[in-house]
Amino acid sequence: MRKPFVAGNWKMNTNSSSSIELAERIASGTMEASGSVTMTVCPPFVYLQSVAQALSTSSVGVGAQDVYYEAKGAFTGEISPSMLKDIGCTYCLCGHSERRHVIGETDELINKKVTAAIAGGLLPILCVGELLAEREASQTNGVVTRHVKNGLAGLSAEKASAVTIAYEPVWAIGTGLTATPQQAQDVHDFIRKLLAQMYDDKLAEEIRILYGGSAKPNNAADLMGQPDIDGLLVGGASLKADDFLAIIQAAM
Ligand code: PEP
Repeated sequence: MRKPFVAGNWKMNTNSSSSIELAERIASGTMEASGSVTMTVCPPFVYLQSVAQALSTSSVGVGAQDVYYEAKGAFTGEISPSMLKDIGCTYCLCGHSERRHVIGETDELINKKVTAAIAGGLLPILCVGELLAEREASQTNGVVTRHVKNGLAGLSAEKASAVTIAYEPVWAIGTGLTATPQQAQDVHDFIRKLLAQMYDDKLAEEIRILYGGSAKPNNAADLMGQPDIDGLLVGGASLKADDFLAIIQAAM
């Protein structure tokens, strides 16, 4: 019922020519997947427009790695939802672990971003997940509950249905350590039940929950084979066209 979703987070990588080259290779390799997999890439802000152009004849969408919650005005350095819509963005990441733990974003700020993104017509991908110390202290479910509840605070079921959740254990991001399919499935199942409590069974059944954390061609099928893992948010492997395409192939 839930269409698989593969998203690539390019983080602070590529340049003006390599971003277009990567986008063109992805566009030409995804024709077969166009009806069966939702696909998007999230390049750095400055390359969004040229990447959107390079992908315009494909069904690969473009997403931003972040967004600000105000519509316009004296917010130096920030980018609004309407600006992202204007240049062809469909998605935006909100609360990626690097923004939570490197930049210092709070749940309150992330909630404002999610809310503003939806109001501005974007589809947010809300990232949640625990640190290694939190997993070792058996706090995973508590952390994920806090991230999901605070991230979606104040949103009706209708608004929340625009959101995709990405469960990304921080200890697995960019480390080469991947959660086992069972570890990831357990948390995805937990999140789905939490959404049913917060909203209703319909929303919980329909919302897509992606896994992220060192997803690669060699573990993608096993991860996406789990009943509650609806796709992958891919960092490092999304910078290599062949790897990203192999992950999309595994989602079909
Ligand atoms: C990410 O950036 O969201 C991510 C999951 O990175 P990686 O795949 O490199 O672990």
